[in-house]
Amino acid sequence: LIQLYLPLNFLGFVYRQIRQSLTDMEQMFSLLRVDREVADEPDATDMQPGGGEVVFEDVHFAYDVRREVLKGVSFSIPAGNTVAVVGSSGAGKSTLSRLLYRFYDITAGAIRIDGQDIRHVRQTSLRQNIGIVPQDTVLFNDTIFYNILYGRPDATPAEVENAAKLARIHDFIIQQPDGYQTKVGERGLKLSGGEKQRVAIARVILKRARVLIFDEATSALDTKTEKAIQESLDQVSTGVTTLIIAHRLSTIVNSDEIIVLEDGQVAERGRHADLLALNGVYSRMWAQQLEAREQDTPEAPEAGQEPA
Ligand code: ADP
Ligand code: MG
Repeated sequence: LIQLYLPLNFLGFVYRQIRQSLTDMEQMFSLLRVDREVADEPDATDMQPGGGEVVFEDVHFAYDVRREVLKGVSFSIPAGNTVAVVGSSGAGKSTLSRLLYRFYDITAGAIRIDGQDIRHVRQTSLRQNIGIVPQDTVLFNDTIFYNILYGRPDATPAEVENAAKLARIHDFIIQQPDGYQTKVGERGLKLSGGEKQRVAIARVILKRARVLIFDEATSALDTKTEKAIQESLDQVSTGVTTLIIAHRLSTIVNSDEIIVLEDGQVAERGRHADLLALNGVYSRMWAQQLEAREQDTPEAPEAGQEPA
């Protein structure tokens, strides 16, 4: 009986491992709240190495055929540069990031990384090359350690810790009874929005991808923590192509280019000073944020957050 039991038990183990990794993939899709809608082409190849130049060429996209969300968006991010996208809620900013990660295929135009149309490369290889901090981070029901390690599964514990330090979440983690082994998520320790964002940032720092996407990645942080993390982000994004969807304009004044997206189209583009001089949408947004700051609207630190 034991002879029969052992292999079965082992098979059960293997099965559970496989199922776990499938669940992780599924989880990742559900976490990012998207459907798995794209498939690899039969002759898809792995992405060729390169500096990380990103090109959006006349990109059109609709979640639903009845309403186009992106109406011909073009911009490019030279390898190692930073481009920021700003615009009102619903303009299509997060959609840009989801398309670059290829959660959906575009309806017309092209998206290229280092000259390769992302529809022609294997999704796994595309996603290995992109680090994304999505707008809403939902964590795996697993340890904090696992949640950060996910960024680069072959990283060492010291590298995980270092990423957590850069994301200003290490001190919080070691205060937990089980430290890095503390379970988080729906079935574990509930983290605040800002804590989750910092775990997601640590994960991306660990990943060392050639393209980075930050979608309002620091929106749930108080200004002081945001500033501290900004320094880390500047450090890790030096020389790395970065698409940053900004929520506070003060964080993007140094971007190589700022794109103002309005209703699925590029309304204005240029550097911070150029856009201020234009006296249009961007300069109005800037004035509004300055005014809000002068009135000293205290940006309420989120509930339950440890002092930074
Ligand atoms: P932003 O990030 O600029 O606030 P989004 O890119 O999230 O805007 O959304 C752009 C538009 O697409 C919005 O009108 C939004 O309601 C719509 N949209 C976003 N996600 C989906 C989805 N999964 N299905 C259908 N419509 C969506
Ligand atoms: Mg968004």
